[in-house]
Amino acid sequence: MLIDGQWLDPNANKNFTVTNPANGDAIAEVVDGGRDEALAAIEAAHAAFPMWADKTAFERADILRRAYSLMIERKEDLARTMTTEQGKPLKAARNECQYAADFLLWFSEEAKRVYGDILPSPRADQRFMVLRQPIGVVGAITPWNYPVSMLTRKLAPALAAGCTMVLKPAEATPLCAIETFKILQEAGVPDGVLNLVTASDPEPIGNVFVSDPRVRKITFTGSTVIGKRLAAGAGEYMKRISLELGGHAPFIVCEDADPIHAAKGAAAVKFLNTGQACISPNRMFVHRRSLEPFTKELVKRVGRLRAGNGLEEDIGIGPLVNEKAISKVARQVDDAMDNGASLLAGGHRLVDDGLDKGTFFAPTVLSEVTEQMLIYREETFGPVAAIVPYDDDDDVVAMANDTRYGLAAYVYTNQMSRAMRLFESLNFGIVGINDINPTAAAAPFGGVKESGLGREGGREGIEEYLDVKLGGFAI
Ligand code: ADP
Repeated sequence: MLIDGQWLDPNANKNFTVTNPANGDAIAEVVDGGRDEALAAIEAAHAAFPMWADKTAFERADILRRAYSLMIERKEDLARTMTTEQGKPLKAARNECQYAADFLLWFSEEAKRVYGDILPSPRADQRFMVLRQPIGVVGAITPWNYPVSMLTRKLAPALAAGCTMVLKPAEATPLCAIETFKILQEAGVPDGVLNLVTASDPEPIGNVFVSDPRVRKITFTGSTVIGKRLAAGAGEYMKRISLELGGHAPFIVCEDADPIHAAKGAAAVKFLNTGQACISPNRMFVHRRSLEPFTKELVKRVGRLRAGNGLEEDIGIGPLVNEKAISKVARQVDDAMDNGASLLAGGHRLVDDGLDKGTFFAPTVLSEVTEQMLIYREETFGPVAAIVPYDDDDDVVAMANDTRYGLAAYVYTNQMSRAMRLFESLNFGIVGINDINPTAAAAPFGGVKESGLGREGGREGIEEYLDVKLGGFAI
């Protein structure tokens, strides 16, 4: 835990244990913070704000750029910490470290592009000037599935804008947060500007973020249930809020698409991070004409995925985050099978070859999934590909949009007009057309409907940390 530039020692404070989900081993003790630590961190961030906001954008950019270089230098160590703490295969962890570092670099550049405006006025004796200024202290809450990039995606634009921050990482992945904050501190972020409160119980920290008047903005990535609770609280205190919540991504394979190419994409994106991503495809709508070759290829590729400890060679599937996640996935698979789905691969927990010590679920393929099944509506957050056959373009758009979520959607087609029609008619914040990775630090990420509010990354990302101020000057 880092408050006002001072690291708190887990041996001298209340602490909690971090475990490796691949084998259940205890890997570290970290400080267990509560309301008092959150308040102390807010005080530090509040005191540091005028100094940080007064620095030039160029000074803030220099620090972020140094943090970028340090993160790239430490990529291997950081990736190993991530694999040990969160479970994703080392290669995926390295990719995430690069993605995380990209936000530091991107927002070091955007810091220098926080422009204002001079507007024409309807009065001859009046001039209008618009300034964009940092909001103030930001309370950030981040998830465990992308335990470094979800931090930099928030802290880099906040720092670039001139805000200060208190960040509470997920209880499953505080070590990644600690390593990230060490990098930022070493890069020259002054004391109090960035504060880290690790905690085993998130609720008191969230409550302080909502109710303390010094926190002017809350940014959250996590489940829709908690996001709504925070948004309600933020509404009561009239705070700015951005939310990146759950998703239920459709993956549409049109009749003109190459089913083999689409299945290759489906296998890669579905099982990334063991399906624990808010943009993971949840329903694969496959045109009936492509169903057989698509399914065959997907099952073949799934059969090649090796589950295990991500530090070992050639591991394609890591563990799920905890027992609760295993139960949720198993419940959805059982429900689908009880309601008539066919199980084509997996469908059970993995316990052989020492995997029983971790929380592994076999990569699973279900076909003939229908809207009566839980998996059709509930976010899975696990390694299950659910195939829903369809016959008609209009039907598939209606089916894809029939969800309370609206984060990501994927389409495979080789027809320009169909690509454009689907791009325009799918109610999602992100649409990948023949593209399974429509994300980058330079691109706006975020959802519509119950998937959240606001955008992270891109030109839009820094706006979430700025207030607009109008000056009217009578001359
Ligand atoms: P998941 O179910 O995917 O873990 P959560 O929304 O529970 O998603 O977790 C995302 C983040 O939200 C984590 O940092 C977690 O500690 C935090 N969180 C969970 N419950 C609360 C709460 N009541 N108040 C504030 N933060 C919370």
